[in-house]
Amino acid sequence: MSTFLELGLKEPINKALTDLGYEKPTVIQEKAIPQIIASTDDLKAFAQTGTGKTAAFSLPILELLDPNNSNVQAIILSPTRELAVQIGNNIKDFCKYLKGVKVTTVYGGSSMEDQIRSLKKGSQIVVGTPGRTVDLINRKALKLGNVQWLVLDEADEMLNMGFKEELDNVLDATPETKQTLLFSATFPREVEAIARNYMTKPVEITSGEKNQGSDNVSHEYYSVTERTRYPALKRIADLNPDIYAIIFCRTRRETQEVADNLIKDGYNADSLHGDLSQAQRDSVMGKFRKKTIQILVATDVAARGLDVNNLTHVINHKLPDQIENYNHRSGRTGRAGNKGISIVLVNGKEKGRLRPIERIIKKKFIETKVPSGKEICQNQLMHLIDKVHNIEVNDSQINEFLPSIYEKLEDLSREELIQKFVSLEFNQFLSYYENAQDLNDLSSRSNSRARATDENMTRFFINIGRKDSLNPAKLIGLINDQRIGDKIEIGAIDILDTFSFFEIDKNFEEKTLEAFSSNQPDFDGRSVNVEITKKERSGGGRRGGRKPFGKKDGGFGRRRSNEGGSGSSSRRRDEGGGRRSERRSSDRPKNSGDRKSGGFGRRRRER
Ligand code: AMP
Repeated sequence: MSTFLELGLKEPINKALTDLGYEKPTVIQEKAIPQIIASTDDLKAFAQTGTGKTAAFSLPILELLDPNNSNVQAIILSPTRELAVQIGNNIKDFCKYLKGVKVTTVYGGSSMEDQIRSLKKGSQIVVGTPGRTVDLINRKALKLGNVQWLVLDEADEMLNMGFKEELDNVLDATPETKQTLLFSATFPREVEAIARNYMTKPVEITSGEKNQGSDNVSHEYYSVTERTRYPALKRIADLNPDIYAIIFCRTRRETQEVADNLIKDGYNADSLHGDLSQAQRDSVMGKFRKKTIQILVATDVAARGLDVNNLTHVINHKLPDQIENYNHRSGRTGRAGNKGISIVLVNGKEKGRLRPIERIIKKKFIETKVPSGKEICQNQLMHLIDKVHNIEVNDSQINEFLPSIYEKLEDLSREELIQKFVSLEFNQFLSYYENAQDLNDLSSRSNSRARATDENMTRFFINIGRKDSLNPAKLIGLINDQRIGDKIEIGAIDILDTFSFFEIDKNFEEKTLEAFSSNQPDFDGRSVNVEITKKERSGGGRRGGRKPFGKKDGGFGRRRSNEGGSGSSSRRRDEGGGRRSERRSSDRPKNSGDRKSGGFGRRRRER
């Protein structure tokens, strides 16, 4: 792995990257930077969002451009205003130690006069959305006659959004001699046509397999009906108290409805779609970036420019109309080395659309059951206990109150105190979920079993589970880390409390055992043990689902009583996720469940 200096970048750029915390180049940067520095050949790069592609094309341009020449030397086109602004800001960060380099970002919905003024002062790099860029060319405010580099970022998305004509116009306004750098996550016919018509023998590079999603993302699907789609969505949010997610919807109306319902039900959510004014969109995105909002409900287009690296989940409330867009959606998580989960809610009819997506992402969707009320309570409770365990005590503030508090609680034993504290937080939540129904689409079970290729898979037991903060994404990561073989197929995964099961292609049975036994991996400090287990599953062969809450895994009561002794649940995922908005802290003490079970509304009124 090279350093940025070894890739050919000068020290002032390297210094700026160090300031930004970029320690080493990403795969696409390692490939693109030396290529662009060394050669004027056109370049076709297959790169998902989140792979570091902005730096991949802009750093070599910064390396090569002439700061003493105030003509526009690079024009970068991006599909949305947000993405353009983000690219412009990134480049400004990259060139902060380079004297004389100026960057202007141009986009619709903002003062044309200001942008013209900025262009007049002389900018070597212009970042723009296609529409505004063409407007400025037509007004002769933007002159591209001296351009050396034309970057088409997210070219597939620009064409999806109907910018073909604008792209043609911009391409026509640039000189033949320029170098064209085309970055795209997918290469449908239209993008290939641009490459064919406007590029000369482009060099191809890729940050992974073409069109394939990030390795850091695991893909799960939940079978729902139209009646259970929304309650299932809420349960997924409830199961993950630190959730930081984008829920993708297909239309503005669907987006607003889902967001309105979540807000009404007390979730820390908001909507992002084209019916909002630019100021409203900026405000929502700002809050989401700061995690004041935990759940953003968005259309594909509106979410394009959002640069957030640590999303825990992407949720497809409905699948996108064009399956290629699934890649764009799921690529919003699993970025910058983080793991992520992409969830799809599908009804019986929609399930058929998973297969073609699997072919594109070259991964299998893991069938996952909508969590039961008890599973949710258990997760929430453990999360609370973790928080208590990790909370920093501010002695100076609290000390003066402590004597009278101790006096009041004097007659309670440690056990009683714990019980009361837990009950205070949880009684309503528990009763809320007490009679919660099974939301899984039972009618689709037989279909899903048919999907399975049981006889080709071996089932393994592994001695870690939810208590060790294991989830399907982490388990897949752990399996992949053992380097069992290229493209091994991982089947159903059952994460239970203290242990779990996973299935692996039978052909890799021996290799899996060997890899785990020779690598002796540990997970969160716990040594991992893997064994082959019998195929039959209790309860008539449930597949990919969670075990019903039961004694064997340690029920609610057992876990609670174990808690003091083990003291082991001190893991936390993301401290930032704990910051909550005013609305959340007052309205949504427990972001919970179906209204039918009644706890939620009641709790709100009581407060
Ligand atoms: P991009 O694909 O350009 O949108 O980049 C995704 C995210 O990764 C951005 O937040 C970048 O700031 C970050 N990033 C890009 N390159 C690196 C790097 N070499 N090291 C660390 N973070 C990076």
